Amino acid sequence: MFGGGSITLFHIRGIRIAVDWSWFLILFLVIFWMSNFYDELLGSSGGSTEPFLLGVASAAGFFGSILLHELGHAVVALRNGIGIRSIQLWIFGGMARMDREADSPGVEARVALAGPAVTFLIFAACTIGGVLAGGWHDFRESALVETSSGSTAILAMVAWLGSINLLLLVFNLLPAFPMDGGRVARAIAWKWTGDRNSATKFAADLGRAFGYLFIVAGIYMLLTNSILGTVGAIWLALIGMVISGAARGAAMQTKMTGRIHDISVADVMDREPVTIPGEISIEQALDEYFLRYRWPWFPVVDAAHRFLGLLNRDAADEVPEVSRAGSTVSEIVDADHGLFVRDDAPLDSLLSNQNLRRLGALMAVDADGRLSGVITVEQVGRALRDAQTGA
Ligand SMILES: [Zn+2]
Repeated sequence: MFGGGSITLFHIRGIRIAVDWSWFLILFLVIFWMSNFYDELLGSSGGSTEPFLLGVASAAGFFGSILLHELGHAVVALRNGIGIRSIQLWIFGGMARMDREADSPGVEARVALAGPAVTFLIFAACTIGGVLAGGWHDFRESALVETSSGSTAILAMVAWLGSINLLLLVFNLLPAFPMDGGRVARAIAWKWTGDRNSATKFAADLGRAFGYLFIVAGIYMLLTNSILGTVGAIWLALIGMVISGAARGAAMQTKMTGRIHDISVADVMDREPVTIPGEISIEQALDEYFLRYRWPWFPVVDAAHRFLGLLNRDAADEVPEVSRAGSTVSEIVDADHGLFVRDDAPLDSLLSNQNLRRLGALMAVDADGRLSGVITVEQVGRALRDAQTGA
């Protein structure tokens, strides 16, 4: 249900706004329900197309409400340096996909609360606007979807949008991770314990409990013909399944990153890499290393085994043949700081390392800058798989 077959609607400042096929089901239901409602409200004065057009307008307002909620998350995330890849709408609402997780409980809480804050503003705007336009009495009747009231169709729509946003607000603020309230709960636990992993575990457990509660409540309402109706009861049970599944996934991921966090670069690296001494000539390096091993690069070290940089085959080849014997390797090394990591760094700090991906490996140095090993992308991958299977 996730990800597969989403349709891009448009872009807002580089953020892809996409919908899942399941989103159209919700829009169809809203148009269907609201057209019937306007049909009853307007009676014979409405004609044949007006209720339908009002239903479509209501669905557009609903779509806009969810999109603005997600944009609220996105704006605050971007302000805190977290990239947003896309906003996706599907049957259970919206999701702003972030490049990375928040790095502090404060940022986590602000990003999580930004969406509900926007939803609250829409609710407040609808309520204030509705009361000003139609008076308190008519607005209240409209909000309660009393079709016998004397309210106009526009007032009814504003009242409906207000109530749907209030419902979204309350629902999103339930502490059911990964929903917004659950993220706030995680931020509080994180602040409290100082440990993101244990906070995630706590929030995920809470999310699973709420998920199961929704499933049970949905089934109960289905059997007892509750106020939510059949569709609402099924939807509640399904969202319970989605929440408990997502919470379980988050708990498993945390367990895994916790295990990876205990592994350091030194635990998995190759401790005896072939190195080129910085003082030898380029001619010697080509003959004794590149021709012999046929690797594209070697780490270069000085007499004290301190890491000087990488010698690339291309860089050595570019030196004219006549000057190869007279120049040393240390003159043409690539001494980029991104090429090495400390050997006591936790392995999870390498997960998004661009140089590791580009080069296929990184040099590991000890506290004194001495080359202690080379860690390859395969070694990182193997350690991740072992952590995943609990080996
Ligand atoms: Zn949200």
